[in-house]
Amino acid sequence: MKQGHCTLVGAGPGDPELLTLKALRAIEAASLLLVDDLVSDEIVALAPPGARVVRVGKRGGCKSTPQAFIERLMVSAAQDGERVVRLKGGDPFIFGRGGEEAEHLRAAGVTVDVVNGITAGLAGPTALGVALTHRDHAQGVVFITGHNRPGSDPADWRQLAATAHQARLTLVIYMGMASAQRLQQDLLAGLPAHTQVAIVQNASRPDQRHAVTTLGRLHDTIVGHGLASPSVIVVGDVVSGIAALPADSGQMPDTPIAPQARSA
Ligand code: SAH
Repeated sequence: MKQGHCTLVGAGPGDPELLTLKALRAIEAASLLLVDDLVSDEIVALAPPGARVVRVGKRGGCKSTPQAFIERLMVSAAQDGERVVRLKGGDPFIFGRGGEEAEHLRAAGVTVDVVNGITAGLAGPTALGVALTHRDHAQGVVFITGHNRPGSDPADWRQLAATAHQARLTLVIYMGMASAQRLQQDLLAGLPAHTQVAIVQNASRPDQRHAVTTLGRLHDTIVGHGLASPSVIVVGDVVSGIAALPADSGQMPDTPIAPQARSA
């Protein structure tokens, strides 16, 4: 089997300042970068002038590149001796198929390094001043996807809500915007309607927006404020820590959309 090497790099939530030094060094040393949708242009611009950059996301309304094609390209380029960097939004191993890609590469005899990135589920709440495990409110945190893989059993959100209530867990929901209405209904089976919720769109980017509301008003707030993907939804009373934000964005239970502090 031909050798080869590939580095899966977490690009973080968008702000280039949130890249790790290791990620920056890997990008700067790459000869081929395969770049996901959610990676910001400023980060792609850090690639060396001679490097080939292949965007493999859905940007510009194109259909996303089939996963099998991406994996084949990574393997063949690595085996041809290219310095392949697979640049993924957030952390490569939090959703977004990094695990599958690493398995595929290893099965093809390609060695793999993984560089962590700051996942959106951390960056979003932090941008609002929300401490996910503030001990007055939470004993733990659950990162969960609201998008069900076709053919697999959906999570039992009612059970999850009851557990989160009993064990005081904060829920951080990725890919939950399209199904927010159903998630709200199910979560209300185990969590009170007054449970605090924050929605953070484009966390760490210049166009970051957020709203703070309650579980009982989640869907109405999303629709009313026109919030959309990519967003994380944070459910739990740790969100009350948002009162630490400037007055224009800290009112509850249903704050107007506020841009992040630096563009306010
Ligand atoms: N690996 C990524 C997640 C990929 S799944 C990570 O660790 O962050 C894609 C989902 O991540 C989006 O639907 C959204 O829920 C979330 N997401 C990614 N970037 C985001 C951002 N800048 N702001 C808010 N949510 C984001």
